[in-house]
Amino acid sequence: MTTTRFAPSPTGYLHVGNLRTALFNWLIARAAGGTFILRLDDTDPERSKTAYADAIREDLDWLGLHWDREERQSARLDRYAAAADRLRAERRLYEAFETPAELDLKRKKQLNMGRPPVYDRAALALTEDARAALRAERPGYWRFLLDPARIEWDDLILGPQSIDAASVSDPVLIRGDGQVLYTLASVVDDTEMGITHVVRGADHVTNTATQIQIMAALGHAPPAFAHHSLLTGAQGEALSKRLGTLSLRDLRAAGVEPMALISLMARLGSADPVELRPDLDAVIAGFDIARFGAAPTKFDAGDLTPLSAHFLAARPVGAVMADFAALGVAAAEAERIWPAIRDNVARRSDIAVWVGLIREGAAPLIAPEDEAFVAEALALLPPPPWVETAWADWTGAVKAATGRKGKALFLPLRKALTGRADGPDMAALMPLLQKPPR
Ligand code: GLU
Repeated sequence: MTTTRFAPSPTGYLHVGNLRTALFNWLIARAAGGTFILRLDDTDPERSKTAYADAIREDLDWLGLHWDREERQSARLDRYAAAADRLRAERRLYEAFETPAELDLKRKKQLNMGRPPVYDRAALALTEDARAALRAERPGYWRFLLDPARIEWDDLILGPQSIDAASVSDPVLIRGDGQVLYTLASVVDDTEMGITHVVRGADHVTNTATQIQIMAALGHAPPAFAHHSLLTGAQGEALSKRLGTLSLRDLRAAGVEPMALISLMARLGSADPVELRPDLDAVIAGFDIARFGAAPTKFDAGDLTPLSAHFLAARPVGAVMADFAALGVAAAEAERIWPAIRDNVARRSDIAVWVGLIREGAAPLIAPEDEAFVAEALALLPPPPWVETAWADWTGAVKAATGRKGKALFLPLRKALTGRADGPDMAALMPLLQKPPR
């Protein structure tokens, strides 16, 4: 059965790049009627925080990306220890003692000699006595012994991949303090949980090569892999520095609609155009991972504003009833207001702006050159309540009295009634307004 996982480390808030990973994995599972697992990669006890785990769940809930099961790596440490024992028994895990400074020196020497900075496996040559002596000084950590062969897989996005394991350092799987690192924990989880597809960012390509070998050493066939390209800013600049401003919670606070975000992310970087989808089922139906390319994908948060606006404009009033109710607007009134304002709501909080105008009226906005004109027009304005034809009646009367027409007529009158130059169709809005200009 198709089983995927989204495996964030609860060490920070999810950002748009994480969303891409979560969404692709979720879509693959849902399209196949399979299982989607939320896996918290929390083996780092210092950096992992419950608050971040809660925030991850909250963000996925907001997006509607529900998971069938949650797993936490911190609850599976015995599994990782058992796998490490198996690897030790197979002589694929060896103890090493070099400090970061020593390793750095080795790397510099290799680079100076024009050689790739691959760990030289000096630890393998240590005698038992030398090892014991080192162990008395500092705790040893554990490296996986790579088989110096080519590692190949057919990536669902990048296509055929071939990485020479001799060009990669033996990965550290267990730290000196005993902490199991992501590479081992992830392999154990992916194989034991029956993960069929691993979708993640292209920054994990090298990990994939080593993970395939670790899986084989543990007696497992690898899953299918897909590595999506990393997101860049609109000008192609690395997004990482700005990711703080692109956390999912910031986008949510800015009023971005989940379906706008999902519609964009389900297509950005693919051969197909971005299409606004009404719901997740439509996104599932239109998704094909093979349509995505290896090139870096430009992400512009500015694209989300029109998508959110279009999404909201297409909603029936029922979809925004809770927003009206929160403002104390009764259902019958909401049903009258929504058709008038729906094309001018970029985010749900804009509903409050128009309801405020409808209830309270506005201080007129009058250009100096329009002062006399607006004064004359306001003298012709009957008091509210205004009838259905109020806008045509008033503008007609003002036109007859002043001779103004077109924009010179309509814009100052809109600004006088609403206090702003933009907004809903005045013919629809004016009958809703409960107060004259202040
Ligand atoms: N915790 C890893 C990350 O956040 C998961 C990578 C993976 O999907 O294997 O990058």
